[in-house]
Amino acid sequence: MKKIIFFLLIALSVSAIEAQKQPKNVVFIIGDGMGLAHIYAGMVANGNQLQMERFKNIGFSKTYSANNFTTDSGAGGTALACGIKTKNGMIGMGPDSVAVESILAIADKNGLATGMVTACDITHATPASFIAHQVSRKMTEEIAADFLKTDIDVFIGGGRKNFEERKDNRNISNELKAKGYTIAYTLEEAKSVKTGKLAGLLNDVHPAAVPERGDMLPEATTVALDILDNNKKGFFMMIEGSQIDWAAHDNNADQIAKEVIDLDKTIGKVLDFAAKNKNTLVIVTADHETGGLTMPKGNISKNEISASFSTKDHSGIPVPVFAFGPGAENFTGFMENISFKNKLIKLLKIKN
Ligand code: MG
Ligand code: ZN
Repeated sequence: MKKIIFFLLIALSVSAIEAQKQPKNVVFIIGDGMGLAHIYAGMVANGNQLQMERFKNIGFSKTYSANNFTTDSGAGGTALACGIKTKNGMIGMGPDSVAVESILAIADKNGLATGMVTACDITHATPASFIAHQVSRKMTEEIAADFLKTDIDVFIGGGRKNFEERKDNRNISNELKAKGYTIAYTLEEAKSVKTGKLAGLLNDVHPAAVPERGDMLPEATTVALDILDNNKKGFFMMIEGSQIDWAAHDNNADQIAKEVIDLDKTIGKVLDFAAKNKNTLVIVTADHETGGLTMPKGNISKNEISASFSTKDHSGIPVPVFAFGPGAENFTGFMENISFKNKLIKLLKIKN
């Protein structure tokens, strides 16, 4: 009898470890254009520290696209979301223009709640890759209409015009309302929504850069986490720090640091949530590096860097990957940017 109880205890504790390793929720965070140098620019400017230092599982993602050594955010986002290398500029489909389901769509199909929060127009290439299927990222009105084909629970960003001031005279916001969404035009309105479906279209086009944007990204993230966490089966959420890329296209290192610090603040909130509830896998990566940024000189005590850029466009070097929570050990070492989707399907034990 003692022996049986002993083996029963072993079996129970093994299954407890197994259970801990399976995430219930996934928060997938993308710093658009965020390479290691961008992160370090933020870290130095922030007094030699970032929330990102809490990650212990670290890897690198190879970002080349189907037709280019250097990806754009369409092919980069599609690789991360849909697990397929495609041609630059394409959204949610392979090079053959055949639509491929994103991890967000698959999570939704399996009963998980889903959400997106971005610091840009919600129809922009990165978020579009998780929701839409279009041959060109420029088809932003078509991408807005693709939101109706999904069951996404929460999305917050800019881009109201693509939903409401369209060439085809459709009002996608009204159509979303008819599907049960609450439409929020300000962060305050979004904050008042605690349950149900929320479409937050906080700007006509893009939210401002920080500091003018304020805490839009971290606060919208809290709104989304609160709503998504109501779902007993768990959730998948994508968060994008969109404007790191834009500051890097401008070769503006001070602004890169500000945008990285804003995303890092958001990451801190997500890590606090994940540390508390223990069944949330948090991944931070980028779609590509922008600017070919390096810093030959700097001063830690003065929080200063002297930046040097090798391009006004993207570069082809791998980008960092950080993971925290159950399953985080699967995201170390070098990996392809198309490997996230299948790893997440496996870890969440959901059906493709
Ligand atoms: Mg983007
Ligand atoms: Zn870019």
